[in-house]
Amino acid sequence: MKLQIAATGSNDPEVHAAGCTDIQRGLRTRKYQDVRLTGDYDTAYAVVLDWWQDIIAERIEDAQYLHDHPEARLTGDTGELTTEAAEVRDLAPYVKFLPCTKGLPGGFRPSKSTSSR
Ligand SMILES: [Zn+2]
Repeated sequence: MKLQIAATGSNDPEVHAAGCTDIQRGLRTRKYQDVRLTGDYDTAYAVVLDWWQDIIAERIEDAQYLHDHPEARLTGDTGELTTEAAEVRDLAPYVKFLPCTKGLPGGFRPSKSTSSR
């Protein structure tokens, strides 16, 4: 699924379907600093991984492991993964998937805290 990841003022990522009108609106109102990443993603995990690679750890080999072993994303099996991959999982709750990402496996989820609206 083609997605775009926008960075908010506090640098928290928000994920939209590519071309979603909310992105342009967010940029206009300065809710978003910019659109940081655009890509085609299979799962929400892949999105978080890409964000993490881009922002936090561009050169970590474990990220490459997940690229090469997509099954590890699905099972969440970290048996062969190291701390960095665990950090990807820790980062996941901070990545906000908007309703327009509903078609993405593991994507849009009703937020646990209902305060953000
Ligand atoms: Zn959207």
